Amino acid sequence: MFNRRKILSLPLVLTAGSVFASTSSKIVNPNEPAAKAIGYVEKTPKPGAVCSNCTLAKNTGEKHVPCAIFQNRLVNANGWCKAYAKR
Ligand code: SF4
Repeated sequence: MFNRRKILSLPLVLTAGSVFASTSSKIVNPNEPAAKAIGYVEKTPKPGAVCSNCTLAKNTGEKHVPCAIFQNRLVNANGWCKAYAKR
C-alpha cells in the first residue's frame, strides 16, 4: 500500500532515472545497428586515424567527442569507423 511520503518521492526517483538514461544514451554503443553498419569501434585498428582527428567530429579534448554521423552523439576519441576522413 502506498503512503503519502512514498507517493511524493516517486517523481524524484523517476526524474533521476531519466537523467541517467539520457546521459548514457548519448554515447554511441558499437553494437547498435547504425554503428555496426559503418564499422564503428571504440579503439581504432588504424594507428593515427581516430575520431578525435576526423573531419566529422568536433575535437573537444574529452574522452568522447560528438560525431556528425551520429547526430552529434558521442563516440570514443580513440575510435574509428569506415567513414573516417582525416582533418
Ligand atoms: Fe569517428 Fe569519424 Fe567515424 Fe564519426 S565519422 S565515428 S568521428 S571515424
